[in-house]
Amino acid sequence: MDPPGHTVFPGHMEQRTELPLPAPSHWIDGRAVPASGSLIDVVNPATDTVFAAIPEGSAEDVDLAVEAATRAFPGWSSTSPEDRVAVLERVVEELRLHAETLASTITAEMGAPISFSRAAQAGFPPLSAAAAIETAQRFSWSEEVGNTLIVREPIGVVGAITPWNFPLQQLVTKVVPALLAGNTVVLKPSEIAPVSAQLFAVVATAAGLPAGVLNVVHGTGPVVGEAISRHPGIDMVSFTGSTAAGRLVSAAASGTVKRVALELGGKAAHIVLPDADLDDAVTRGLAFAWSNAGQACGAWTRMLVPADLQEQVVEKLRAASADYTVGDPADESTRVGPLASEAQRERVDAYIRRGVADGATLVVGGPGRPEGFGTGAYVRPTVFADVDPGSVIAQEEIFGPVLVVIPYTDEDHAVEIANGTVYGLSAAVTGDREHAVEIAGRLRVGLVHVNDAHHNFQAPFGGYKQSGNGREMGRAGLEEFLETKAITR
Ligand code: NAD
Repeated sequence: MDPPGHTVFPGHMEQRTELPLPAPSHWIDGRAVPASGSLIDVVNPATDTVFAAIPEGSAEDVDLAVEAATRAFPGWSSTSPEDRVAVLERVVEELRLHAETLASTITAEMGAPISFSRAAQAGFPPLSAAAAIETAQRFSWSEEVGNTLIVREPIGVVGAITPWNFPLQQLVTKVVPALLAGNTVVLKPSEIAPVSAQLFAVVATAAGLPAGVLNVVHGTGPVVGEAISRHPGIDMVSFTGSTAAGRLVSAAASGTVKRVALELGGKAAHIVLPDADLDDAVTRGLAFAWSNAGQACGAWTRMLVPADLQEQVVEKLRAASADYTVGDPADESTRVGPLASEAQRERVDAYIRRGVADGATLVVGGPGRPEGFGTGAYVRPTVFADVDPGSVIAQEEIFGPVLVVIPYTDEDHAVEIANGTVYGLSAAVTGDREHAVEIAGRLRVGLVHVNDAHHNFQAPFGGYKQSGNGREMGRAGLEEFLETKAITR
C-alpha cells in the first residue's frame, strides 16, 4: 500500500498534499514544462504499482534547460554571497516545512522504510544544506597574495546527475553549494526516484530562487545524462552514481574539457580491532551495513574481524539480525524495506547466489524472496562468513543488505584487505580510539568513521581510487563549484 499523504501526479492518483505537482513535466525556467513525448513510469517497489510518471526527456529538452540556465547566469552570479545565502536559507525552511511529504514521497519512489525516510532521506537534506550555508558564510571569496588579488568565481552552468538511493540528499549536496557559489544548474535526477527532485524544484522556486537558476530535466542516463555530459553550454558536470556510469560521463565530458566531479561506488571495510566491544561493533556494524537496505555508497559491507574472534562475532550477528524485520516500508516498525526496483532485486539476488556458489558460509538470509513476499523488490538480508577477500562478493559493490565477514590474522593483514579493492570511498574502525585513528591514517579512502562518532555535515566526502574524484560538503565541497582567478596589478 502507498503511504498516506504523498504527492502524486493527476491521472495516477488523487492529490492529497499541499505540494501537488503538475502533469509529468520537466522544470525549466522557473516553471513546469509538460512532457512532449513518451513517459517513464515511477514504480513503487513495495507494491510493483505505478506511483507517478515523468517525461522521457531528450537532448532537445537539455538544450532548453541549458539556454534557461545560461540566461539566468549573469543575474544570479552577480548577486552577493549574502543574497544567495538568504535565498538558500528560505529553501532550507521549505525543506523542513515539507519534510513529511518529502519523506513519504521518497518512501513511495524508492522503498526506504518511512521511519528511515523521516530521519535520513528527508531529515539529512536540510541539515546538509544548512551546513553548506554556514560554510559559504565563513568562506573567503577573495584574498591578497603579494601584488595579486585572487578571486573565486562561479564556473557557469553546472550539470548535476544524481542516483536513486538518497535521491533528495544527493541532489542537495550538489545543488546547494553550486548555487551558493553563484552557478546555475541543470539537474537530471535518477529516473527510478525522480519525484522528490521535482518537488525540490517546486519548493526552491516558491522560496524565491529566480527562474532558470535551477532546471530539472527528467529522463534516462544514456539520453539526458549523456547530453548533459557532452553539452558545450555546460561548464561542469557533477555526477553521483555507479563507477561504470561515471566512466561514461567522464568520456562524454572530455570533448569539451569541462570540469568533472565524480562520486562513485564503494566497498567499505569495517575493521573490528581485537580490543573492540564486540556487541557494540556488531550492533553498529549491522546498522551501517543494512540501513536503507544496504543501498548506500558508504555502507559497511565488509566486516573484518580477528580470525580467532570470528565465531563469536558471527553468533552475535546471527542474534542481532533478528531485529531487522523486512516489511512494508509504510509500516512504522519496518527496518528493512524493498530494494529500489525489481532490477536491483535481481542484481542483489544474483550476488547472494554467487556467494553461495563460491563457497562462503551462509549465516543469515540467502537467495530468493523473504517468506510471505510474493511481490515487491524484497530480498533476504544476508550475512556471509569466512569470506575470501578476493572473491566476487568481497570485491564488487552489491548495493543491497549483504554483509560479508572476512577474518584477518594481524593488523597489517586487516589494512591490506581493507585497501584491497578498486574502491576507496569510506571505511570504519571500531576499538581503542587512538589506535583506530592510527589505522585510519593507513586506509586509502576519503572518509573513516571511528567508533560511534556522529556524522559531521561540515566534513568533506568523496573517494580515492575508482570511488571518484572531488569532494562534496565542507569547504572542499563549495570550492568544487568555483573557478580561481588571479589579478596581478
Ligand atoms: P547509476 O550509475 O545507474 O545512475 C546514476 C545516475 O546516472 C542516474 O541519474 C542515471 O540515469 C545516470 N546515468 C546512467 N548512465 C549514464 C550515462 N551513460 N551518462 C550519464 N548519466 C548516466 O547509479 P544508481 O544505480 O542510480 O545509484 C547507485 C550507485 O551510485 C552505486 O554505485 C553507489 O555507490 C553510487 N553512489 C555513490 C555515492 C557517493 O557519494 N560516492 C552516493 C550515492 C550513490
